[in-house]
Amino acid sequence: MVKISKIETVIEKIQTPAYVCEEALLEENLKRLKEVAERSGAAILLALKGFAFKALASLVDKYLSGCTCSGLHEAKFAHEFFKGSVCTYSPAYKEEEIDEVIALSDHLIFNSFNQWEKYKAKALGKTSCGLRLNPEVSSSPVDLYNPCALYSRLGITKENMQYDKLEGIEGLHFHALCEQDASALEEVLKGFEERFGELIPRMKWINFGGGHHITREGYDVEKLIALIQDFRKRYNGITVYLEPGEAVGWQTGSLVASVLDIVHNGMDIAILDISAEAHMPDTLAMPYRAMIRGAGEVGEKPYMYRLGGPTCLAGDIMGDYSFDAPLRIGDKLIFEDMIHYTIVKNTTFNGVKLPDLAVLRKDGSYEVVSQFGYDEYKRRN
Ligand SMILES: *Cc1c(COP(=O)(O)O)cnc(C)c1O
Repeated sequence: MVKISKIETVIEKIQTPAYVCEEALLEENLKRLKEVAERSGAAILLALKGFAFKALASLVDKYLSGCTCSGLHEAKFAHEFFKGSVCTYSPAYKEEEIDEVIALSDHLIFNSFNQWEKYKAKALGKTSCGLRLNPEVSSSPVDLYNPCALYSRLGITKENMQYDKLEGIEGLHFHALCEQDASALEEVLKGFEERFGELIPRMKWINFGGGHHITREGYDVEKLIALIQDFRKRYNGITVYLEPGEAVGWQTGSLVASVLDIVHNGMDIAILDISAEAHMPDTLAMPYRAMIRGAGEVGEKPYMYRLGGPTCLAGDIMGDYSFDAPLRIGDKLIFEDMIHYTIVKNTTFNGVKLPDLAVLRKDGSYEVVSQFGYDEYKRRN
């Protein structure tokens, strides 16, 4: 999917820092996801972990079946802002939260037999209960994002299966992918069926988790649809769920920053009003290099700068970028693809202001939907 951003049409209006989600781009992703759902027969839920943007919830509602939540707060958020169903999975539920979680959730997925046994009596009859299983197959590129890595706490392994405790369980869940293609799902599905296939006919639903990079250019949508159709055919039309997060927010907008100062220490260094550490933490955690509109690699264009944040963390650095013209104080820089896994992870570290949340509407208007100030820092410290 090649997407055309229109952010430059409103760049003058943007007060930085701001995360700007483009409604038209989000809708393109949602349309593709809906097509997958319709053609495969699967239901698709938005994983709030990667993309929780309440101002755009009604748009998401038009295309997806609901939200996947990782605990009480996400379940409350899904219930408050979205219309569809709520599926909750948490590595461990707390006693004082479980009643509310049950009341909010259409599906409730447990991570261990301990947890299932502990909450079974409360949950049965009120929500459809499932278990997260560990297929022990994953080609996830980084251990930080690999739920099937050695000693993973996420999901029950075949070795820990307790076949006598399955009564009341209506669904099985696995989540083993990260930014991956349909062929990676095929591998995981094979591992899942080898280990747990005999249980599938007893279930009402199977949840294939997230990490399907469905909206990325070059993703093999036809293969995904064929895999799901084949699976459903083999298991009597069983209901399949997908719960992508990243694929919903993928390339739907940017983080817009301004140059606050330019200093020199062996090279030119621009200080921006956004922070890699606080506002785009995956660039340091994964790590990966963010793309900047119009900027190139080191040596590609004539004017080179190291870009850094306004915090006092020495490593708060986005990287070295080259530009066609010298940067000036006040220039705006557009960091590409900064909507998923940024807003949901950002912090008020070092008292730095959180970027506004803004939407570029389909009609071309620019709307700031949330603003943050000193209060955010005060409340959290
Ligand atoms: C993170 C997560 C997702 C979403 O993953 P993406 O990579 O954002 O698609 C779905 N399900 C579970 C259980 C998760 O932990």
